[in-house]
Amino acid sequence: MTCIFCNIITGQIPTTLRYQDDQIIAIDDITPQAPHHLLIIPREHIATINDLNADHGALVGHMVLSARTLAQQLGIDKAGYRLVLNCNADGGQAVYHIHLHLLGGRHMKWPPG
Ligand code: 5GP
Ligand code: ZN
Repeated sequence: MTCIFCNIITGQIPTTLRYQDDQIIAIDDITPQAPHHLLIIPREHIATINDLNADHGALVGHMVLSARTLAQQLGIDKAGYRLVLNCNADGGQAVYHIHLHLLGGRHMKWPPG
């Protein structure tokens, strides 16, 4: 199975890493929907949020806390930002390797489209 994010993680697709550690990477979205649009991606291939189990709790927490730190580093934490996890077709998921969107630098609308 070909997974674009696994290929980015293994270096088969070159990319600029905004952050990395032993659990996650963070990259700029190729089609940004805001002035700042990063993807926080676990190194482990997990297809959807539905595939998470209780052992992934620390990983998901680490993704959120890392997004928080990146928002601080980008200087958008005070103005605000949005974190998004899309799941399956109705959730608008296009890449089936979970990823947390960090969007900021503009005022977000609600409800989302
Ligand atoms: P989803 O709709 O699955 O939540 O979001 C997938 C995101 O991955 C989209 O925002 C899309 O622009 C982004 N994306 C798809 N392919 C690539 C790629 O090759 N590189 C990067 N940096 N982002 C990608
Ligand atoms: Zn993958």
